[in-house]
Amino acid sequence: MSKLLEVDAIDVDYGDFRALHGITLTVAEGETLAVIGANGAGKSTLLKTIAGLLRPSAGQVRFDGHDVSRTPAHRRVREGIALTPEGRRIFGSLTVEENLEVGAHGRRPGPWSLQAVYDTFPLLAELRTRRGAHLSGGEQQATAIGRALMSNPRLLLLDEVSLGLAPVVVADIYQALPAIAEKGTTVLVVEQDLTQALTVADRVQCILEGRTVLEGAKSEVTREQVQAAYFGID
Ligand code: ATP
Repeated sequence: MSKLLEVDAIDVDYGDFRALHGITLTVAEGETLAVIGANGAGKSTLLKTIAGLLRPSAGQVRFDGHDVSRTPAHRRVREGIALTPEGRRIFGSLTVEENLEVGAHGRRPGPWSLQAVYDTFPLLAELRTRRGAHLSGGEQQATAIGRALMSNPRLLLLDEVSLGLAPVVVADIYQALPAIAEKGTTVLVVEQDLTQALTVADRVQCILEGRTVLEGAKSEVTREQVQAAYFGID
């Protein structure tokens, strides 16, 4: 499998504070990688850097073989990198369908359409005329993922799908991820929730205080190892 995303030894700083220390990761085309870490480990910082909202102070982000470290965020969207941010950012005054259409602005050609999103999240088809402000957290999360898919991304970055949602709602949303991968969309999900992330991922990478502490194919790492890495237990 060819490497779609290569993050090579990036440092990311907020002023004097270094949030990421030499993080390296790769995601092959068609694969699902879960980056797991506790609150404050640096997961959102990592996704923002891949999406172009933050610049690394050292290292490189390569997408489809070329360096995008200096490419602005809006151009990365056109190249096929879509971020579903923490907090979802749904437009409250727009309907579900209008929110999805926002994601289609300047889209790349590809398998995703309103119908494909509705097939993946049947709930959204039922809610198509409901305004964003009247959606539950889980419905907003599904809308946010659908909106990102509407740009036809080659790489979908999902920030903390589970945050603030009831376990049953989280499970529903995670159930859609294999269908997304089957359409050829590569997925990088960051999570605090081990259980769901381990279910969908082909590979896992654990970060602790901005450093990689464990990585491997899901078949190679045990839940106990992931848990120990998560809490920083040697
Ligand atoms: P969370 O689950 O809380 O989002 P996270 O793993 O995504 O955690 P980040 O949000 O990437 O972690 O934060 C990594 C570190 O960087 C934390 O110590 C955090 O306090 C710090 N940090 C994040 N954003 C900023 C900022 N804008 N300015 C200064 N420090 C920041």
